[in-house]
Amino acid sequence: MTAHITQKKLEDTTSGLHSSNKYSYDSSLRLIDEVLVCPLDKGELILQPQGLICKVCNTKYYQAEVDSKPNNLDFRCLSHKSQVSIEFQIPQPFLSEQQIKNLGYATRVEYKCISREEIRDKYQTKLQKEILYYIAQIRSELGSNIKALDLGCGSGGNRSYLNSVGIENVISVDYSSPEADILVDAHRLPFKDSSFDFILTTATIEHFYNPFIAFAEISRVLKPGGALIASGSFWESWHDQSCFHFTPNGFFILCNSAGLTLEDLWSGWGFIPSISSHALNLRKFKKYTYKLQDLFDAFLRLRWGNNFAFKHRLKTSGSFGIYARKNDYSV
Ligand SMILES: [Zn+2]
Repeated sequence: MTAHITQKKLEDTTSGLHSSNKYSYDSSLRLIDEVLVCPLDKGELILQPQGLICKVCNTKYYQAEVDSKPNNLDFRCLSHKSQVSIEFQIPQPFLSEQQIKNLGYATRVEYKCISREEIRDKYQTKLQKEILYYIAQIRSELGSNIKALDLGCGSGGNRSYLNSVGIENVISVDYSSPEADILVDAHRLPFKDSSFDFILTTATIEHFYNPFIAFAEISRVLKPGGALIASGSFWESWHDQSCFHFTPNGFFILCNSAGLTLEDLWSGWGFIPSISSHALNLRKFKKYTYKLQDLFDAFLRLRWGNNFAFKHRLKTSGSFGIYARKNDYSV
């Protein structure tokens, strides 16, 4: 399918969408053309007057209305049931004491970056120091010409940030956001195998209804050696139809089962701001609850040492972020 979706989408797209960053949006559409397939059977897609049709199963993919905007081609296949098999090794190893000690590297490392507040104001997204650190590592190791996927893009701020550090080839997808280039279900991605060098998926993992299948899909569409940055809930309360919340061991097992190596894991936010914000609905006091958490962590460090404080954070974190790489068996 050569450049067809690009033309189609550009014709159909309302002028306001992503117009502030036209160049990057065009490169996203070129990338979609290159990697898109039927999510049901990976068949080739052919252009139709209304959208696309799979050459193999004849399923049609049309634009869905999201928030009354007919902007997104819909690849969720909501009316198609699939049976999926995954391999799962029994028993699974757990994180060893030594592996636990090595976690939190990006938290400890000196890395100067823009603050959480600046990220939110400038890019309308929430990316912490650890995520910014690994994005910089990935960019310097794999170059700026990498192909990236923002899975569960929400309001689309992650792409703006990636563009700002020179990563232009970014596809933003979501289950329901009008800001997404296309609508997808993470358990059945409409992309060829080994399409991406880098997948970013933030505050999403707890929303997967089968995280093992979703991680197998993430791994399938990553190139061997490709990088994943992901984050998901632990002590955060049940919210927006979240399904499973994860411990560090849970992330470790998820990665192992999908052929990914967990390289690092860090605490997203402590239990004080997360419980205040999620369970007690005290969002307007967030700034103070972060300060309170910092004080609490400092007290633990002073009283019982760094290791104790770090482990306490692992036991009580509101959410976790992870950095993982797809195993490259060819090396
Ligand atoms: Zn098909």
